[in-house]
Amino acid sequence: MLTLTNAVAIVGEVDGAERQGDLVLPSTAEETIDVGDCVVTPGLVNAHHHLLQSAFRTLPGTRGVAMSAWLPTMAAAYGRAGHDPEMYGLAASVGVAEGLLCGVTTVADHHLNWPHDASADATVELAAATTSAAREVGQRLVFVRGSARDDAARAAASAEAILAALLPGAPGGVSADGMLQLAVGPAGVHSDGRETFAALREVALRHGLRRRTQANEQVDTAIALEHYGRRPLDLLEEWGWLEPGVTIAHLCDVTEAEIARLAAAGVSATHAPGCDVPMGWGVAPVAALLAAGIATGLGTSGGGSNDAGHLLADARLAMQVSGLVGPQLPARTVLGMATAGSAAGLGRSDLGHLGPGTAGDACVWDVGGVADAGIADPVAGLLWGSPGRRPRHVIVGGRVVVHDYRLTTIDEQELVARLRERLRRTPVA
Ligand SMILES: [Zn+2]
Repeated sequence: MLTLTNAVAIVGEVDGAERQGDLVLPSTAEETIDVGDCVVTPGLVNAHHHLLQSAFRTLPGTRGVAMSAWLPTMAAAYGRAGHDPEMYGLAASVGVAEGLLCGVTTVADHHLNWPHDASADATVELAAATTSAAREVGQRLVFVRGSARDDAARAAASAEAILAALLPGAPGGVSADGMLQLAVGPAGVHSDGRETFAALREVALRHGLRRRTQANEQVDTAIALEHYGRRPLDLLEEWGWLEPGVTIAHLCDVTEAEIARLAAAGVSATHAPGCDVPMGWGVAPVAALLAAGIATGLGTSGGGSNDAGHLLADARLAMQVSGLVGPQLPARTVLGMATAGSAAGLGRSDLGHLGPGTAGDACVWDVGGVADAGIADPVAGLLWGSPGRRPRHVIVGGRVVVHDYRLTTIDEQELVARLRERLRRTPVA
């Protein structure tokens, strides 16, 4: 058992009440950590990332541009770097390590960029490079077999092969220890057609997998109107993707009537302001989504649009920009999105909460320094105060993976050196 003692506040327990004192987490080790001056929260759940992009941040030609220019610029950079297991593994290691240091204990990696001629076996190798990176660093991973203009049959065969190789017989595509989950989903109606949505839907229904896609960033809406004369959600509904088990990221340009349709369909949502705001793609009306009863999580999206995988920083941003598109979101609401809200979209009631029946993922945030002095409400202060705040300790499944702000699982500097060396061999810009 791992016991955290003397917390200033413990939030996110299954019963919902906030309290002070001690928290016991299931663990194979017997350990007690004094967390006086600290707030304890559930581990954060980043519901939308593209881990590969962690190796492709701040690239020339990717800022202040339309998505139609951004997509080919990014794709060309991936091509120059090379689609191979080493590249995928290093990019994923950097992304998950950065996330853990920021309190993210679970990440959903929507992997969209596959070499188009790759065999199903080759895609298994690429996926395995990503999943073993997450396992080595110690973060839970939801690997989303995505698609961006892939051949529909190839995408479906690849998803089947990844499931068979990496999660054989796993119910709902979740490993017995809960560290790995498989989901599927095309990038969006701007890139993939009816056949790909149908093929991946079929794989998901056959195996009970969650489905994830992206919709209603402004360019997505523009392309849907131009190609089909319809709005993205009209197409998703017709293609069988407004159904329970589907989570849609972004949803910036969404009308009141569309929000009602999403709610009635039982779809969940992911807000990604750390991508949408700097790229100028819009701000999702989160208060309206929540008021309609839509489970809404929080994601960073990838390094090509959001150069950091810092979910708490994006929670702060979500709060700050919410007042521009509706009533301002309270800090506890946004913290709930970054934990339980994201977990709901992944179908994981074991994540995003603390207490009985949960997986034992927690963050310990030190609020004893000057950045928090004079803050009346230390829980609200987690988001409002101290921009860039990182957790002192991070626990995944009762195991301390970040201790005193440092990873216990891998050597951070060695990982940085390995990615740098790889990028020197195949420059991306
Ligand atoms: Zn995205």
